[in-house]
Amino acid sequence: MTAPLRLRLDTEALTGNWRALARMSGRAACGAAVKADGYGLGAPGVATRLAEAGCRDVFVSNWAEAEALAPLGLTVSVLHGVRDEDLPLALSGIARPVLSTPAQVARWQAAGGGACDVMVDTGMNRLGLSPDDLAALAGLEIHTLMSHLACADEDVAMNARQLAAFAALAGRTSARRMSLANSAGIALGAEYAFDLTRPGLALYGGIPRGELSDTIRQVVTPEAQILQRRRVRAGETVGYNATWTAAVDTDVAIINLGYADGYFRGFSDKGSAGQGTCPVIGRVSMDLVALDVTATSLAEGDWVALDYALPAAAALSGMSQYELLTGLGGRFARQWG
Ligand SMILES: *Cc1c(COP(=O)(O)O)cnc(C)c1O
Repeated sequence: MTAPLRLRLDTEALTGNWRALARMSGRAACGAAVKADGYGLGAPGVATRLAEAGCRDVFVSNWAEAEALAPLGLTVSVLHGVRDEDLPLALSGIARPVLSTPAQVARWQAAGGGACDVMVDTGMNRLGLSPDDLAALAGLEIHTLMSHLACADEDVAMNARQLAAFAALAGRTSARRMSLANSAGIALGAEYAFDLTRPGLALYGGIPRGELSDTIRQVVTPEAQILQRRRVRAGETVGYNATWTAAVDTDVAIINLGYADGYFRGFSDKGSAGQGTCPVIGRVSMDLVALDVTATSLAEGDWVALDYALPAAAALSGMSQYELLTGLGGRFARQWG
């Protein structure tokens, strides 16, 4: 059975993006955030390709995600740490927990857990131990000490403050490596790279800072099949709430894709397909989108590629580049080329 909608996924672009970020990371190793199912692309498919390119360290949010990657033989870190419920899996050694609360630290110590990572908060106030809690880490085998940048996609003083706070922790723990930078952090400069970088968004074609715009290539293109081509007469309307009215006779293609697939309602009357030749008209429905295909010979059964360059698509739809990736739903066939 072939799904009527698919994601075309570009292996060369993915691995090229990783290599470019690895180069920008200088002497630091370059890992990959593959949480949220590889930002919607499919974590095993992403991780397999990055491993072939030379990536060793991958980051997921929870232990179910770690389990899905276990067969690949990569070094997996679980960013949300370890709950009581996670201990059996965590102690089996398939991944390292990234401990981020005093209770997690105590739990891991009491369980006799092995190598772990530690997240320290340097100002974001999301996850992480306070620098004052680091004394409690005595005796733990810490592989990587991490922190996370709150505003790396902006030019604000907070970046340098977090950098200084993190750099001050060097030598304060037994950690073998230090890691601070996400995608945007890599573009902030070599001093942010420490020993290991953790890009996510830019691997998948997202561009969080202008410095990356010449380097990062699009990885994901959603494609959908045309269900019907119809002629809409001047003065008639298309779609829910009749928001679009034909100014002239218009040929309309209805495609197999909608907001339930992550093609969000913000693309209504704004998105396009076929490199701008086919504007989205009217409201995006749950499972359907209408395109103006007057300028084309596209017919029922043909496939069309949605325009999905992430910075432009984010600006049009009002969604973030992250949401545009992670929203891509389970109905797409994921086809790596
Ligand atoms: C998601 C995440 C990353 C990757 O961030 P991007 O902005 O997608 O590059 C890195 N580190 C941590 C702790 C994260 O949660």
